[in-house]
Amino acid sequence: MIACAEHFLPGNDAEPKPHDDVVSTLSKALGVQAITTDDLEIASKDFGGLKFVKPLALIRPSTADDVARVVRAAARSPTLTVAARGNGHSINGQAMAEQGLVLDMRAMDELVRLVRIDGAPYVDVSGGALWEDVLKRCVSEFGLAPRSWTDYLSLTVGGTLSYAGVSGQAFRYGPQTSNVTELEVVTGKGETIVCSKTQSPELFFAVLGGLGQFGIITRARLVLQEAPHTVRWIRVVYSEFEEFSSDAEWLVGREEGESCFDYVEGFVLANSEDPSNGWPTLPLDPQQVFDPIHIPPSAGPVLYCLELALHYRYSDNPSHVDAVVDGLLGRLRFIKGLKFQVDMGYTEFLLRVKRDEEHARANGVWDDAPHPWLNLFVSKSNIAEFDGEVFKKILKDGVHGPILVYPLLRDKWDSRHSVVVPASSEIFYIVALLRFSPAPPKGPPPQQLVEQNRQILQLCLAKAFDFKLYFPHYHSRQDWINHFGNHQWSRFVDRKTAFDPMAILAPGQKIFSRVP
Ligand code: FAD
Repeated sequence: MIACAEHFLPGNDAEPKPHDDVVSTLSKALGVQAITTDDLEIASKDFGGLKFVKPLALIRPSTADDVARVVRAAARSPTLTVAARGNGHSINGQAMAEQGLVLDMRAMDELVRLVRIDGAPYVDVSGGALWEDVLKRCVSEFGLAPRSWTDYLSLTVGGTLSYAGVSGQAFRYGPQTSNVTELEVVTGKGETIVCSKTQSPELFFAVLGGLGQFGIITRARLVLQEAPHTVRWIRVVYSEFEEFSSDAEWLVGREEGESCFDYVEGFVLANSEDPSNGWPTLPLDPQQVFDPIHIPPSAGPVLYCLELALHYRYSDNPSHVDAVVDGLLGRLRFIKGLKFQVDMGYTEFLLRVKRDEEHARANGVWDDAPHPWLNLFVSKSNIAEFDGEVFKKILKDGVHGPILVYPLLRDKWDSRHSVVVPASSEIFYIVALLRFSPAPPKGPPPQQLVEQNRQILQLCLAKAFDFKLYFPHYHSRQDWINHFGNHQWSRFVDRKTAFDPMAILAPGQKIFSRVP
């Protein structure tokens, strides 16, 4: 079934264009409403707002068969490529295809199906489903929920599984890629394959964190757990990085069975009253006020905030919840007096960034401004020096948006997946510069921010930090080889040869060139 109101009407007077035959074959196979060569704006841009690339056509597939037909049609041409577009929340054009075919994965038929295997619950969802829809349906229909999230949920399942999918639950359950047991994938050869750890495992491991290079995820089976009802959401503030990071590491390192928060994140903020970079970003509701009197005189240009959450159910005794929270907070060395806390519904907590989105849209910094974001994984062995050089110096005035920094545990990441993470320590930190500066002339030129990102990367290289780009974006093959390291690069190339030998898929990642 094809769901779209646009029409593909080849003009009678127009000269035939290269690939008109492909477009007309596909419009016959999928229905004219599923393909457009006119209204291409959505497929030509992304959230980053830095790249604009025109595809040949935008296609709205309904089923895995539709996706496979598109890939096979592209394979019959010597040059055509295919980009699956999730929700276009990439920064550097990764979901684009210059003069290629872009698949709008959100058009796929809705699927949210509960599956029980040996009594354990899983949900089958479409690769184009938004995580926010998966959340709402799983909680309201089954009282269950996936375990590992991203902070923001208007992202697609296939889009985040192509990278990793990280939020404050990842210290316990690993990234989203570690919480999938089965995938249905359309490979670059146009074959539709169901894969798992035991069935076509090479494809399963390749696709997870695979930057869309090996196949298009049309269905994913996600691990579920009982959904809590309520969340206590807490922020505590530090002036010293050493205290912040050792407390964060203590929390994420708690053994199974020991009491612990269900969500642990952290961020850096400017030690100032600046409304988008400093103290006003801390309170969790409008009634709370940040009183700077508590900041010790020894504090530097930035402060650090641990963001924590504990899940509970209506049936839990409130004094027990208080005791668990107080017991854990009592072990931490945050600045007394700088603690913020609210209780809210579980779904509301997971959808918390939606409120920030509304605010940013109203201020013109969501749709209308570029977002030169930088995301890194930095080894624990280098994070203190990174703090000294980057947070305290280069970024001391902030990025007009969150600067996330929190620890993750390497043993929760499966090294068979395609994503690469720092290897020198069991703990590495995610660092995310989520820039929301207004567009020029109100804000700085985006090139200036891109240049600041480059400066940070240069510093990491010059100091030989053990780090990896999350959402990597490189210009040369040698940079990609350096990113993966020799061993994992050759594995990545072997996987490409096996599953997408003509390099049809995800051309916007700029890793491989189309083989004629
Ligand atoms: P797209 O940007 O559309 O696609 C990304 C890549 O995946 C492209 O190469 C595309 O071709 C490929 N792809 C898309 N769908 C499929 C599919 N079905 N099968 C195979 N390949 C596919 N990430 C986190 O880990 N944690 C966060 O907390 C987080 N928060 C974010 C908040 C915001 C506001 C934004 C803009 C991004 C955030 N991200 C986060 C990054 C996000 O994970 C990436 O942008 C990711 O690309 C998902 O976005 P998308 O679904 O729009 O995919």
